[in-house]
Amino acid sequence: MKVFTSAIRLTTTEKAEEINITDQVEAIVSESGIQEGIAVVFTGHTTAAIHLNNSDRDLERDFHDLMNELVPDKPTFRHNKGEYGRNAHAHIKSLLVGNTTIVPVTKGRVALGQWQAIYFSEFDGPRNRLISVKVMGSTG
Ligand code: ZN
Repeated sequence: MKVFTSAIRLTTTEKAEEINITDQVEAIVSESGIQEGIAVVFTGHTTAAIHLNNSDRDLERDFHDLMNELVPDKPTFRHNKGEYGRNAHAHIKSLLVGNTTIVPVTKGRVALGQWQAIYFSEFDGPRNRLISVKVMGSTG
């Protein structure tokens, strides 16, 4: 089994936004030479997330609108009174969505559903962000 590790670096431009990273993940899978296996897409940031969704600009905004309804930026969050900044809402959104997604690699390609895309969610931008991608599998 081969293991190939790479990274995607992003500079987000909004307080909250969706960034479709499917093409970057696909490029890393292609560079890996792995034909059959899995790709783990992970971010170590605690105010961002990784997930799959239907690739659609309207749905991206609907998603953030709903997240804002579910987790409003409340000054009463204890984290906001500490030394780590007023971003408790961003941490909670991150943990609700998750930091990792695993996608199958088939015949050297990311085997997503027809409408699926891999997304990076920014909840506390703008910032420089790092996403790690680990591709594991067989090359033959
Ligand atoms: Zn914080």
